[in-house]
Amino acid sequence: VKSAGGEWLIRIEDLDSSRVLSGCAGDHLALLEKAGLKPDGEVVHQSRRIPAYDRLFKRLHESALVYPCRCSRKEIASAASAPILGTETRYPGTCRDLEIPASEIRAWRFRVPEETVEFRDEVFGDLSEDVLAQVGDFVIRRETPERTYAYQFAVVADDTAQGITQVVRGADLLDSTARQILLARTLGFPIPRHAHIPVLVSQSGEKLSKRAGGRELPKLASSGRLPSIVAALLTTLGQKPTLEEALRTFDPSRIPKQREIRLAPPP
Ligand SMILES: [Zn+2]
Repeated sequence: VKSAGGEWLIRIEDLDSSRVLSGCAGDHLALLEKAGLKPDGEVVHQSRRIPAYDRLFKRLHESALVYPCRCSRKEIASAASAPILGTETRYPGTCRDLEIPASEIRAWRFRVPEETVEFRDEVFGDLSEDVLAQVGDFVIRRETPERTYAYQFAVVADDTAQGITQVVRGADLLDSTARQILLARTLGFPIPRHAHIPVLVSQSGEKLSKRAGGRELPKLASSGRLPSIVAALLTTLGQKPTLEEALRTFDPSRIPKQREIRLAPPP
């Protein structure tokens, strides 16, 4: 983004309170800054944007683009978070044409149109997805145990509100892209460009997030190893090993077309 003259923005996607560790986002931002990566604008927290999501939801509701669902708590809970690769199942449309009393509503789902979404990812190339056939009507808002907006809906609202033109994120979210494009198109929003980069995983294949060692990050910041870590990350993405050089010579075509990169075993 910086090498193309753009502004680099960060958003903390913290709507799923069951998966938020307090202090973790702050640690990550502090570490990025220490590594020389400072965002160009204010960091947006999704948890503070509920009124904006309420307004957008009202629009979808008034246009009958969402419908209530009373399927099981377990089914809906997993559907509202950012998907974890390989854990998604297609919603068969159980509640699509039912009249559901207000007291039984557990979630609201987007009525997915019958169309194939085609898009170009700047790393993975031309892709397409028939969202209705592969995912089904997806959850926009969960009503139980408390009201929460789904990841898929919030990012579309935020991308438009922030004027995002280029999304760069982990390839674990590649499969969410068609859903977000469909929603944005339905709402008349501009569609950002997308680039999905490989996600670093442990030798056992786990994502290197807070679930697998991410809490070690603050220690790294004071260990003097940051420059070598930044160099390793840039090299992994096919780029020059310092931020200064990478900024001058960044070439997206050298980013590996892989969803995951497994960490090498320690020497
Ligand atoms: Zn249902």
